[in-house]
Parts: sequence; structure tokens; C-alpha cells
Amino acid sequence: MKDFTFHIYEKLLTSFLQNHYEFHTLEKFHNHQITKSLNQQIVMRHDVDRKPQNALQMAKLENKLGIRATYYFRIVKASFDEKIIQEIALMGHEIGYHYENLSIAQILTKKTKPHKEELFEIAIKDFEENLRIFRQIYPVKTICMHGRPLSKWDNRELWKKYNYHDFGVTCEPYFDFDFNEVFYVTDASRCWNNETVNRRDKVETKFKFKVESTNDLIELLDKKELPKKMIINIHPEHWAENNIEWFKIWIIRKLKNFIKKKVIRGKK
Ligand SMILES: [Zn+2]
Repeated sequence: MKDFTFHIYEKLLTSFLQNHYEFHTLEKFHNHQITKSLNQQIVMRHDVDRKPQNALQMAKLENKLGIRATYYFRIVKASFDEKIIQEIALMGHEIGYHYENLSIAQILTKKTKPHKEELFEIAIKDFEENLRIFRQIYPVKTICMHGRPLSKWDNRELWKKYNYHDFGVTCEPYFDFDFNEVFYVTDASRCWNNETVNRRDKVETKFKFKVESTNDLIELLDKKELPKKMIINIHPEHWAENNIEWFKIWIIRKLKNFIKKKVIRGKK
């Protein structure tokens, strides 16, 4: 069976429901985390790098099943679509900011080696302004970094100098969870937890589950082997409803991952 279809995504969601997992938005999950709830809880986190239309389709599917998820949008043309963001928010999903301000600042300075102070100042101003734009649509409380594997900057470094709490942000998942308690899975680069094509979207963890397909996840779930707390990061752009779109994504992804593998190997 083909992976990364909407059909198998629905199967995954249904399996979690049948196995009595509560779905929460990231903001709520973070609060529950503090109260140390013993229930099985899961967050469907979506990084909308591109194709907001796919995000909308996913949001509708989740809504049909009574599930609330969290959607992180970038503030670039390929991702930020005000109408779609509003529509997704209206279904009760959480909206967050998928930030990449250091990478953007590097481009804005037009210098190959800008002064670090200057770069960080441009980046934090960019962050603040973009957050303001988001909050005209939705009261954003959580943010998460966009990996940008080909950029030299890890956008999380911004928080070595500044504090996101000062901007009314309550949670950045890469910093605010203990990933020995919360099992994190990502479909970055359209591979499950694959580090040869995934440079930054990973966490320190004790969990060693072998997940190579969505079906692997479903099987682990049915065998009751998955941890009680989970965050799954799903990029809607990798998933398709019909065969033509599926093959298009598959071919482009093969090429992209070929390049990424070379770049990531070169950085190690
Ligand atoms: Zn991203």
C-alpha cells in the first residue's frame, strides 16, 4: 500500500482514537504537561512549509473525526494564506508561527558575513513584526522553528540571545518538552525519522522505535507499544489525495532528498 496518502492518514488518526488517545493542540498539551495528566495524549503538529491548500484538506479531515491539531505557518508566500488560516482556525485548530528569522536576516543584510549583533537585531525585529501580523488573525501562543536545511543558520539560536516568553509565547516545542517523556516522530523530507535527509528536525531521546512507514506506527499502536505522550509532526505538503499528485510529490522528493543527503553529509 502507498504511504503518505490521505487515506492512510485517516487510518492513523482512527487508530489513535480507537486506542484511547486524547488529541490536544500543542498549547493545551503543554498546559496538561504541567499538570502531569496520566491520560494518553497526542498532538498532531503540522509544519506548513508549502501548499496551505493541503493543510486545509487535512484540517477538514481531522475536524470530521473531532480532532484538534496545531498548524504552524511560515510568513512567506508559499505558506501564508490568510483565508486558509482563518478557515482552519474556525474549525478549532490551533495556529502557530513557523519562524525562520535568522535565515531571513542573513538574506536581508545582503552580506555573506554580517556582524552577528546586526543579524540578531534584524532577526528579532522580523520575528516581532511577523508575530504581530499573525495575531491580527489569531492569538498565537506557540511557535516552532522552520528547519531550512540548506541555510547555515539554525533558527533556534535566536533564543540564545532573546526570550520568546517576552513576546507572549508560551511554548516552543523543541525547548519545552522532555523528549524522554514525549515520543516525537516526524515525516520531515517525507521519510519517518530519517536523519540522512533531516538536518535539524530531531530531538534527544531515549525512545528507539523503528518507524519507517505510517503502517509501522499503526502496528506499534495496535500492539500497545507506543508511549503515553506523543507529538507527531506531519507536513501536509508530503501527503496526497489522488495518484497523480502522489507521484508528482514522490518524484520531486526523490530529487530533493538526493541533494539534501549530499549537503547533510558534507556538514557532518
Ligand atoms: Zn518547516
